[in-house]
Amino acid sequence: MRTRFAPSPTGPMHLGHAYAALVAREAADHGNGVFLLRFEDIDRSRVRPGYYNLIEEDLQWMGLEWQEEPMRQSDRLEVYSNALTALQDQGLVYPCFCTRRAIADEISRITNAPHGPEGPVYPGTCRKISADERTERIAMKTPHSWRLNCAKAAEACGQLTFRDLLHGVIPVCAEKLGDVILARRDIATSYHLAVVTDDAEQQITLVTRGEDLLSSTHIHRVLQNLLGYPEPLYLHHELVCDEKGNRLATRDKARSLASLRASGCSRTQILEKLPPLPALTGNLAGET
Ligand code: GLU
Repeated sequence: MRTRFAPSPTGPMHLGHAYAALVAREAADHGNGVFLLRFEDIDRSRVRPGYYNLIEEDLQWMGLEWQEEPMRQSDRLEVYSNALTALQDQGLVYPCFCTRRAIADEISRITNAPHGPEGPVYPGTCRKISADERTERIAMKTPHSWRLNCAKAAEACGQLTFRDLLHGVIPVCAEKLGDVILARRDIATSYHLAVVTDDAEQQITLVTRGEDLLSSTHIHRVLQNLLGYPEPLYLHHELVCDEKGNRLATRDKARSLASLRASGCSRTQILEKLPPLPALTGNLAGET
């Protein structure tokens, strides 16, 4: 059993992060396994150097020791670029020259624009561009991202599933989020591409994370299949909410662990503010 906690050092940890880390640590303990730390720090414009240390301090204070050297995504851009090349070689991605504005305009023009769980999905404008025009615009250094052609990817993968310890076996819908971005124009990778590549590199066998990411797992299984990565088990846990039922956000500094600690809150008092941990029983080796 290998699990990981993958925070972004873009703000202090709040109770939601503490819960995510506890779930991952608990699952590793349950399987006599290893708990790893990974900093999802590709978005340099939002990362603040002090947060790496603060996150480590918070975890140590919570008694959540990780094993092995923490991984930093910012060290691994070349690996992601190789993964993108593998998908380019399979003809499953295409360059997208659209600005956010152009996409919003296009969506507002279409009646019945396709929607996913997170709102309207990319309308596919650049999917229709000819190969010649793509080459020309790239040669002219027109800024572009790279998108997964999800219909082609679905065809290449056939029917996949994933198993979630709380939600059961779920059939994958490769089109769930539309033609997602795999390499941003400014960063040359994306959350989706980096996370599957890192889970494979860190040999994660159980991916634990908030249920807000359940729909992303459809894309992740597709990418794992296309890139020849192993299939992990999943556990999408509930999100920690405030008294009004809203999920906690990083900007919600008042609930940061650091400020709770500073105000004299003990570890036990923090644990009391969190939902119970999911009960893990039985075989976690991949058989239902
Ligand atoms: N960095 C993500 C977050 O902080 C976690 C992503 C994942 O666990 O796959 O929510």
